[in-house]
Amino acid sequence: MKKDIALRLTPKEASSEEYYKAIVAKQMKVHPDKITAIRVRKRSIDARQREVIVQLHIEAYANAPAPKKEFVQFEYQNVANKPEVVVVGAGPGGLFAALRLIELGYKPLVLERGKEVSERKKDIALINRNNPVNPESNYAFGEGGAGTFSDGKLYTRSTKRGDFNKVLNVFHFHGAQEEILIEAHPHIGTDRLPGVIKKMRESIITAGGEVIFNATVTDIIIDDMSAKGVVLKDGTHITGEAVILATGHSARDIYNMLHSKAIELEAKTWAMGVRVEHPQELIDQIQYHTPDGRGEYLPAASYNFSCQAQERGVYSFCMCPGGFIVPAMTGENEMVVNGMSPAKRNSPFANSGMVVEIRPQDIPDEFRKHGVLAGLAYQKEVERLCYINGGNNLIAPAQRLTDFVNSRLSYDLPPTSYVPGTLSSPLHMVLPQAISSRLQEGFVEFGKWAKGFLDPEAIVLGTESRTSSPVRIPRHPLTLQHVQINGLFPCGEGAGYAGGIASSAIDGEKCADAVARMLE
Ligand SMILES: Cc1cc2nc3c(=O)[nH]c(=O)nc-3n(C[C@H](O)[C@H](O)[C@H](O)COP(=O)(O)OP(=O)(O)OC[C@H]3O[C@@H](n4cnc5c(N)ncnc54)[C@H](O)[C@@H]3O)c2cc1C
Repeated sequence: MKKDIALRLTPKEASSEEYYKAIVAKQMKVHPDKITAIRVRKRSIDARQREVIVQLHIEAYANAPAPKKEFVQFEYQNVANKPEVVVVGAGPGGLFAALRLIELGYKPLVLERGKEVSERKKDIALINRNNPVNPESNYAFGEGGAGTFSDGKLYTRSTKRGDFNKVLNVFHFHGAQEEILIEAHPHIGTDRLPGVIKKMRESIITAGGEVIFNATVTDIIIDDMSAKGVVLKDGTHITGEAVILATGHSARDIYNMLHSKAIELEAKTWAMGVRVEHPQELIDQIQYHTPDGRGEYLPAASYNFSCQAQERGVYSFCMCPGGFIVPAMTGENEMVVNGMSPAKRNSPFANSGMVVEIRPQDIPDEFRKHGVLAGLAYQKEVERLCYINGGNNLIAPAQRLTDFVNSRLSYDLPPTSYVPGTLSSPLHMVLPQAISSRLQEGFVEFGKWAKGFLDPEAIVLGTESRTSSPVRIPRHPLTLQHVQINGLFPCGEGAGYAGGIASSAIDGEKCADAVARMLE
């Protein structure tokens, strides 16, 4: 006998099958000894009320052995002699495009400017020791893209559950933990992601596809308004039936190259601000409404805030419970921060981007001479100002949150997870006033909703500037080809069609499908 059951339990009850077996048996009208298996299908935490509840959707079996646990498997056919498609970028967009191309019977040629993930780790370690950033291998560039050294949160606003489930299953098939198929807010963790990414590469290569590292694309070969291939930095020409361009939001050289060739781009809304960090214990106390924090049975708490300030959105972005703030710049004279967490989310810190929506009309006049690239110029200038205020290295300019809100310099700074170090700086003045004044209003508002959030032990670091791209590479809504160039498929976050790992992965699959439709 099988029964689907929804349970609402205390965190302790939900922590062990023994606690809820009796409830399940009662609902199935059998003796607990007759229960042969209980499988959790979905788990979520409801912390809206004073008492935190864990909701479990389970599948219970009684009286007869339960069927074998089955997971979705993927079989990648051999495409070694099939038509070739160029995929630029080995982030989630590019990797999922490549795997989907294989499913559809095409051979992907994945070109990645950075290094394979184990080599990339060494450059990441150097960055954390405050060495100059390698412009081809850093927190944004290299195998797996910007999401490799991250929290690996897998959320999407995609309304198509099927697409999202496929992404989860592909990650699981390549070694991600089973929990991502169960948790309402799944995440993989920075300690596990490199292994998953490596296995995805192995799937591509085993199927006859190619993944080429240290292959920076500098030009697109266009003939009669159709993309025929790309040119690498060393002059090599690589041709294919189509080009999927999945270079992410930090590939400024790609936007410049497209602009210089008069290939149409569009300015778009993005967001900039700071990264805020609190002791995780404090966030647990606030979110779980108890001085005991998360106790033994709950995960590190997260939050998600948004409000309007002076007619623009102010919101938390990419919150990393139990995580670390990381230096996410890609070049010289830039100060950029972001966040990541290990699978267990067990660092004593909770960090999150806190950003202000920036619409194209908000860009100051002095940057307008850059035309459609004005947003990039503005973003770059804010990063430069933060770089100077950190002391011209990877040390981040920082301020106590309470001092930032009250426009005061901090005399000293609280501990932080940011390894290269922090330097006290008047971020309320360093950041453009349009950003800092809205952030100040936003923080005050969030402090009203979450008592204790405006804590003197909380710190803000500048700057969180790469939330998404200020530029879109426009494509036809049905063919997904660039509005002027046939066979060029702008893809993922850098093209402006995704925001996050899961949505970039979904977009990668969509672009591969569109390539197949074009080549049919
Ligand atoms: C530290 C950090 C933490 C994050 N945490 C999360 C999270 O927890 N959850 C989440 O959903 N999102 C997170 N993000 C955002 C997420 O990583 C991105 O949304 C996602 O990776 C975008 O996927 P993409 O494939 O479009 O681009 P990217 O991942 O940026 O990949 C683009 C790839 O293209 C390569 N490339 C660029 N230019 C060239 C060129 N000229 N030639 C060849 N190759 C090129 C780059 O090296 C890169 O590997 C995080 C980002 C960072 C930086």
